[in-house]
Amino acid sequence: MSEPCCLDTSGRMTENMASVDTTENMASVNTTDSRINKSTRTKPLCTNGVYKNPWKTWKDPDFVLKFMYKMLIAEKDCSNIPCKTQELDKHLPVLTPEFDQLENPPNSGVQATWIGHASVLVQLDGITVLTDPIFSDRCSMVQWLGPKRYRPPPCKVDDLTVLDAVVISHNHYDHLDHGSVVSLNRKFGDKLWWYVPIGTRQWMLNTGCKNVVELSWWEEHQHSPNPNIMFALTPAQHWCKRTATDTNKALWGSWVVKGPKHSFFFAGDTAYCEGFKEIGEEYGPFDLSAIPIGAYAPRSVMAAQHVDPAEAVQIHTDVKSRNSLGIHWGTFKLTYEFYLEPQTRLPEELRKADLSEDCFVTLKHGETRIFGE
Ligand SMILES: [Zn+2]
Ligand SMILES: [Zn+2]
Repeated sequence: MSEPCCLDTSGRMTENMASVDTTENMASVNTTDSRINKSTRTKPLCTNGVYKNPWKTWKDPDFVLKFMYKMLIAEKDCSNIPCKTQELDKHLPVLTPEFDQLENPPNSGVQATWIGHASVLVQLDGITVLTDPIFSDRCSMVQWLGPKRYRPPPCKVDDLTVLDAVVISHNHYDHLDHGSVVSLNRKFGDKLWWYVPIGTRQWMLNTGCKNVVELSWWEEHQHSPNPNIMFALTPAQHWCKRTATDTNKALWGSWVVKGPKHSFFFAGDTAYCEGFKEIGEEYGPFDLSAIPIGAYAPRSVMAAQHVDPAEAVQIHTDVKSRNSLGIHWGTFKLTYEFYLEPQTRLPEELRKADLSEDCFVTLKHGETRIFGE
């Protein structure tokens, strides 16, 4: 088993591990090679196995005290999510996906289906990839407490018939959902490949995943069943936590999926940071990017970890995205902005940036669209 890839506080590599486990007995094959030092790009900081964002835009907030004070006392909750399903159906309709279309993706272009929150089914160059799958009712440690979804998933895991790989951005409960991982393993078994940031591989193996590729920022992996497809973990400004004692003991990140004709960028869960310009220089342009646009208010608490729509548009520009899809909104109540504000602010911010409203869109839950044909 490999130890987490770590940099000391000067950014120097101290361990050097990108590993993949493809065997039932969990023996690991170390795939470390020259690519680890290929990039001189900004790396995560790591001290004693705890990761940290390397940019000045990151502030180590006192999450618990500040969060409690701001969210419970100082700031107003403007989310106003309707109680009535009829009202929700009017503004956030949930469509049943066109499964025929998913089973027969186009030869050209990137086909994307919004499953909800940060879960997107993306099909390009003959591969089907799912991002941060969550089909459960709550994004929480337990299913009887914690943020509950106000829009249902448009389908069940069992309805999906094609899936080759899953990318996970980080281990927060709204992005790494135990129930969804179990269901996906039950449905697709060892045909499925899991791409995770370093520090999360063991959790995936414990949850029954067979093919787990764990990478640090700027590390690449040629997808074994189809080596024409490359997966790379790239930076994001965020953090990790699943238990009381594991804060930032796993890394977070964004993902690049590049095929012979098309490319896709998944920004995961992130604040704005300088890393996106580097991603654009290294891997841009992209035919499609999935970029978060929600869960940003109050800014006094959220600015260091979640982008707002203006910053999402800046990421779209920085990574040289031809088309972008707004994600991480309209599904779970996590923060205080009006629940439809991410969708209405996005075109306003595009206009302010002199960009076409068509280049960065939202989809209905369950809706499929082809980008970059
Ligand atoms: Zn998160
Ligand atoms: Zn999130």
